[in-house]
Amino acid sequence: MSDSVAVVWDDALLGYTMGGEHPMHPVRLDLTIQLADSLGVLANDRITVVKPEPADVDLLTLVHDPAYLEAVRRAPGDPGVGHGLGTDDNPIFPGMYDAAALITGGSVQAARLVHEGRSQHAINISGGLHHAMRDRAAGFCVFNDAAVAIAWLLAQGYERIAYVDIDVHHGDGVQAAFYDDPRVLTVSVHQTPLTLFPGTGFPEETGDPDKALGSAVNLALPNGTDDSAWLRAFSAVVPGALRAFQPQILVTQCGCDAHHEDPMADLALTVDGQRASYRALHDLAHELSDGRWIALGGGGYGLVRCVPRAWTHLIAEASGDRLDPATEIPESWREDVVRRGLRARPPTHMTEGGYTGFAHWDPFTESRVDRAILRTRHASYPYFGLDPDDPRD
Ligand SMILES: [Zn+2]
Ligand SMILES: [Zn+2]
Repeated sequence: MSDSVAVVWDDALLGYTMGGEHPMHPVRLDLTIQLADSLGVLANDRITVVKPEPADVDLLTLVHDPAYLEAVRRAPGDPGVGHGLGTDDNPIFPGMYDAAALITGGSVQAARLVHEGRSQHAINISGGLHHAMRDRAAGFCVFNDAAVAIAWLLAQGYERIAYVDIDVHHGDGVQAAFYDDPRVLTVSVHQTPLTLFPGTGFPEETGDPDKALGSAVNLALPNGTDDSAWLRAFSAVVPGALRAFQPQILVTQCGCDAHHEDPMADLALTVDGQRASYRALHDLAHELSDGRWIALGGGGYGLVRCVPRAWTHLIAEASGDRLDPATEIPESWREDVVRRGLRARPPTHMTEGGYTGFAHWDPFTESRVDRAILRTRHASYPYFGLDPDDPRD
């Protein structure tokens, strides 16, 4: 059960916009907040909506090089600035520095509220920009808000922070930021890097060999993985690793681009599976970290049919009042989608009838997803003192 939940939101967060044809259009965030509001989710007694403040240079340089910050600031007037900026993936846009700094400030604020005990859980759906690196933009991400928030938590004295990333893409920027730091366990569940950007996230990436072996866990799933297989894989790897690590606080990146209609990737989750994944993360926060949970957004390019439903479920889950799967979507929200001229057909219900039951992992089966599970367990579980072949762990 939750006691208090902060939802970081301000319409100014919609200023992170890479252009009308860019996949990561901020309308996805706007429609999410509108949907959550129209269903009464934001009116829950336990939820407080808080406005973010932009991250200052001291915060941003916890993760990023000063020269890169300067490049981001200069970019709108200097398109040849480099650092991954000005590409198709990471186009330069007016106000880019301020927009990215505001998102990062929102994630740090979420971390601060949870750290100070003012909120048990805090959510920043605009955050989770997990591909940004120390000195360059990547994969639509300018500043790595997740890494900055974690670095800020480390500065408050945490010794064991778990970061769990369920975006369909590998959480490479966050992994890189803490690859040599045993205080941060990064766990990423994603589509195999053999078929998807950024091409990293193999199970054998387990942390810096000299300083932090075992501090990175990577579960790389085959194309086409559906709800049942995804949940089977998650439950075979993530809870065991987290229970062994005993995190004091949990940061999750809840990118929803593993959805079957997502135009960027090839996994096959439904909103039902995503809803179940948020419940699993929420349960782990209560079981292991006294409820201290910071949930960030991330990828998700089903602007109308996936992101708004998925992250409305995330907010509802955190509030402790889950939305019934049969919940109908208000006509006013559907009309708004049409009025905005968006091409996708607005959904009618909050879920899709996906089947989220799954059989417990079994080391003696030979499905593709079980082979993926086994490979990750063999790469990582010995570092936690766990038997990779024991299905009870
Ligand atoms: Zn809770
Ligand atoms: Zn993604």
